[in-house]
Amino acid sequence: MSRKVVAGNWKMNLNYNEALSLFNSVNTISAKDVEIIVAPASIYLAEFSKCSGRVKLAAQNVSNFKSGAYTGEISAQMLNSLNVEYCIVGHSERRSYYNETDQLINQKLHLLLENNISPIFCCGEILKDREKGLHNTIIEQQLKHGLQDLTKSQLLNCIIAYEPVWAIGTGLTATAEQAQQMHSFIRDVISQLYDLETASSLSILYGGSCKPSNSAELFAKKDVNGGLIGGAALKKETFNEIIDSF
Ligand code: PEP
Repeated sequence: MSRKVVAGNWKMNLNYNEALSLFNSVNTISAKDVEIIVAPASIYLAEFSKCSGRVKLAAQNVSNFKSGAYTGEISAQMLNSLNVEYCIVGHSERRSYYNETDQLINQKLHLLLENNISPIFCCGEILKDREKGLHNTIIEQQLKHGLQDLTKSQLLNCIIAYEPVWAIGTGLTATAEQAQQMHSFIRDVISQLYDLETASSLSILYGGSCKPSNSAELFAKKDVNGGLIGGAALKKETFNEIIDSF
């Protein structure tokens, strides 16, 4: 059975004091059966990993190399040594601003899984492709190439986030029906690549301008197991309301 998850991606926001204060307050949220994850900037991970509470930590990025002379990079092994449990991979901002390809994303997934970190694997189509009716094809390709050569048990350690690029940070949200259609399609693709049981066990999150006013409708859909939240994760109140909307 897929589990309910709400993850906050703080991106390159919040100075140290702001981030610590938000982390401490989110850490006290008392939702029962929802897994709560936050992804602060990586320089805060070492300190936050020492705070006990109910929130799990994610990194926003990881190197596609194991170790060595890669100035500025952070390895999966380093994240593991801080007890970071998750890492976002394949976010559209990394795909578009840093030219990350499906192949590079796949390298990151393998390194993370080898270091016991669960990837939050993002996929999503741009507006032009949706308008042309190519959204299913694009997502299928991202899944096939991004998840290449993962074993079934490795895949079961991943979370998938469907994030239509046209909905990220734009205020435009996919309708609950559009989200359900794509989440169900993602399960079909996983079912073909692996099997039905694996597909039904995966948590598939929706991301893209998810906020308290639309989260309940999105989360009520059968194949939507939660959300990857950007802007609305930067305030405890809105993040909490989204968590409560299950
Ligand atoms: C994101 O960047 O993953 C995201 C979903 O952002 P927002 O909620 O701000 O659209």
